[in-house]
Amino acid sequence: MIIKNLVKQKRVKIKTKNSDETFDLGKKIGESLLPGNLLLISGELGAGKTTLIKGIAKGLDIDLNVKSPSFVIVSEYSGKYKLYHIDLYRLDGEEIYNLGLFEFLENGVVCIEWADKLENSFNDFENIKIDIEIVNEDRIFNIILNGEEFIKRCTALQ
Ligand code: ADP
Ligand code: MG
Repeated sequence: MIIKNLVKQKRVKIKTKNSDETFDLGKKIGESLLPGNLLLISGELGAGKTTLIKGIAKGLDIDLNVKSPSFVIVSEYSGKYKLYHIDLYRLDGEEIYNLGLFEFLENGVVCIEWADKLENSFNDFENIKIDIEIVNEDRIFNIILNGEEFIKRCTALQ
């Protein structure tokens, strides 16, 4: 999974008009994910990070109701694969470091909310970065697919 030079990067911009559309976008992304895949999601409070992850969970055949884990830092769900939903909102540098994010990645798909707090820790890894902008009711998903594998596999984002 480690790639020394990120040879390929693809940027995609997608607009959703309501939370159902955001959920559907997440579902399509979720359907193409595999264990070891890392999604780094950022955007201010209410941007739709959790809504997107609920859709991703659906795409991974997870039927449990995925909640916004405001007081839970790591939520683990089982579907087609394991999904680790991690919210860094309340954590600082050392606490984030101590979470052992790499171990979660060995076991399943990892979706991180407030991923901007990680700074550049995962720059040498294949990942999908999603930064959500709020424009009234619309949400603009600025997506960067880092790594050739994602670019090929995430057909929903072509
Ligand atoms: P976050 O996890 O980023 O704080 P949530 O997903 O919990 O955000 O909440 C997003 C809120 O914004 C919800 O109340 C949702 O109904 C509302 N909303 C309005 N438009 C959209 C949209 N296009 N996509 C996602 N959520 C939207
Ligand atoms: Mg949230």
